[in-house]
Amino acid sequence: MNSEHHGIGMTSQRTRDRLADKLVEMGINSEPILESIRKTPRHIFVDEALASRAYENTALPIGFSQTISQPYIVAKMTEALIQDRNLQNVLEVGTGCGYQTVILSQFCQQVYTVERINGLLIKARERFHKLGIRNIRSKHADGNIGWPNYAPFDGIIVAAAPIGVPEALLEQLTIGGRLIIPVGKSGKQDLLLITRTDDGYEEQTIDAVSFVPMLGGIDTS
Ligand code: SAH
Repeated sequence: MNSEHHGIGMTSQRTRDRLADKLVEMGINSEPILESIRKTPRHIFVDEALASRAYENTALPIGFSQTISQPYIVAKMTEALIQDRNLQNVLEVGTGCGYQTVILSQFCQQVYTVERINGLLIKARERFHKLGIRNIRSKHADGNIGWPNYAPFDGIIVAAAPIGVPEALLEQLTIGGRLIIPVGKSGKQDLLLITRTDDGYEEQTIDAVSFVPMLGGIDTS
């Protein structure tokens, strides 16, 4: 990542360090992930008017009725996905502003990310470029069908909640690969960790969460 996005005042390194300290208190203990939260400039992923709140442990609006995920959730999902080893290829469904994508890019060879709202994807791509990140490939598409051309994936992470786990995502996991996905109706969702085994899938509930719903089709606005 380029190092020119240090920020001052409410976006300074001290402010970022405090966010990481808060995540430690909440049970995040992977040092590489905490370090990645400390060094990733979350304020460039939100509107300038909200920059001063970028290092609060909270979801914030990013336009198009969507939100940037809460840092704790990003850290928790990343921790569950990588489990202290770097991955080859990861698929992210729901690029949004691209913050989770940039965190993931620090823990795998290549990130593939799909977003159904074109306006969000265009802005996210600008941020990847600005940060000088080269291992992210993105597409304007419906993530319900995954990204078959680049499957299978070591890891898949989903940032919006479907009612049930899309079959295509299960099929696009390598043996041993992990899928992190919130599932359920709005207001009452479980964050699941699903691992593909030699003869099926193992499922574990990580947390109770609240995500925007996973929708079908694409939006060209
Ligand atoms: N990690 C992102 C989360 C954004 S919110 C961030 O921190 O910014 C979830 C995103 O999932 C939204 O941008 C929404 O448009 C997208 N989304 C919802 N359903 C989708 C689908 N079927 N395919 C691709 N993206 C989807």
